[in-house]
Amino acid sequence: MNEKTLSIIKPDGVAKNLIGDVIKRLEEAGLKIVAMKMIKMNKEQAKGFYKVHEGKPFYESVTDFMSSGASVVMVLEGEDAINRYRELMGATNYKEAKEGTIRREFAQDIEKNVVHGSDSEETADFEIKYFFNEMEMTPR
Ligand code: ADP
Ligand code: MG
Repeated sequence: MNEKTLSIIKPDGVAKNLIGDVIKRLEEAGLKIVAMKMIKMNKEQAKGFYKVHEGKPFYESVTDFMSSGASVVMVLEGEDAINRYRELMGATNYKEAKEGTIRREFAQDIEKNVVHGSDSEETADFEIKYFFNEMEMTPR
């Protein structure tokens, strides 16, 4: 099924100059970027984005991290895009991520893991609307 998913190159990835590496991988995999911008979330915006994790032990820390610097947010489109992009990212904990995945290659710990990707159609829908309006979505 043709799907859209939200990708974020997190503040650690931007700080380490990994924007090009990440984009190269997803373009080579045939995912199309249909929206893209660089942003810096404030703490409230990061908390709203990760609302699903409210109450978990890492919620404060991950929302501090996500609001600590610039991120690149993108909407990716393609056949089975949600799962295909999750496969390219690798497991949340880079130590458990498969060889060759973005997180395995570039992450420094379980929190600073370079990239975000939506995990279902419902979360993709919420997350895309969180950052992009209709005018910013470019069919290609
Ligand atoms: P994913 O990003 O793989 O979908 P989750 O949705 O479970 O993972 O978690 C959101 C983000 O919160 C992770 O990408 C990571 O940055 C951070 N995180 C998740 N679990 C932990 C943890 N146990 N300790 C610290 N940070 C975590
Ligand atoms: Mg998640």
